[in-house]
Amino acid sequence: MRELEERICRDGIVEDAEVLKVDSFLNHQMDVELFGAMGREWARLFAGEGVNKILTIEASGIGIACVAAQQFGVPVVFAKKSRTKNIAGEVYHTDVPSFTHGGSSTVIVSKRFLGPADRLLLIDDFLANGAALEGLIDLARQAGAAVAGAGVAVEKAFQPGGARIRAGGVRVEALARIKSMSPGRIEFC
Ligand code: 5GP
Repeated sequence: MRELEERICRDGIVEDAEVLKVDSFLNHQMDVELFGAMGREWARLFAGEGVNKILTIEASGIGIACVAAQQFGVPVVFAKKSRTKNIAGEVYHTDVPSFTHGGSSTVIVSKRFLGPADRLLLIDDFLANGAALEGLIDLARQAGAAVAGAGVAVEKAFQPGGARIRAGGVRVEALARIKSMSPGRIEFC
């Protein structure tokens, strides 16, 4: 999506060879107009897929997912970071290693909000090694929900997550795919 690529070139900061900072418009201060355009693009790409719920992960996926959900006319559920894995079997849980912070967190979704009737679009801001999306796919599998696909804002295509998730049979639509980057230079696929 040209608009997103242009914005990344203008306002994104390559911190090092691995991390792109986009906190002025994507995951701290949020440009909701831009999110609207992203949501419309995913709605066009996944039209006819029967998506009836969006599943995202705390925290930086939530804003993007909410704006996208308006285009689909469906609710959003976010996987919550939690200290307790299981409250008397009421939740699905999975462990997600963090790309940016190291370590891993347990995320949970209440069994009330995910089930076999759901056909999910997974949304997140970044796709790097794929752990966040794989966590969401695992929650969907536990719930017996179908995954129609995944929409990510930025895929760093030089990292292995996208290839692995596509190889697992999940359609991934990234609105900007970065082939390589270094401080002051970003090349898109
Ligand atoms: P993965 O789980 O695919 O390795 O990484 C995805 C998660 O890590 C995203 O939810 C995102 O929050 C974070 N992330 C990965 N790469 C970047 C990056 O280059 N910049 C920022 N700001 N976050 C990233």
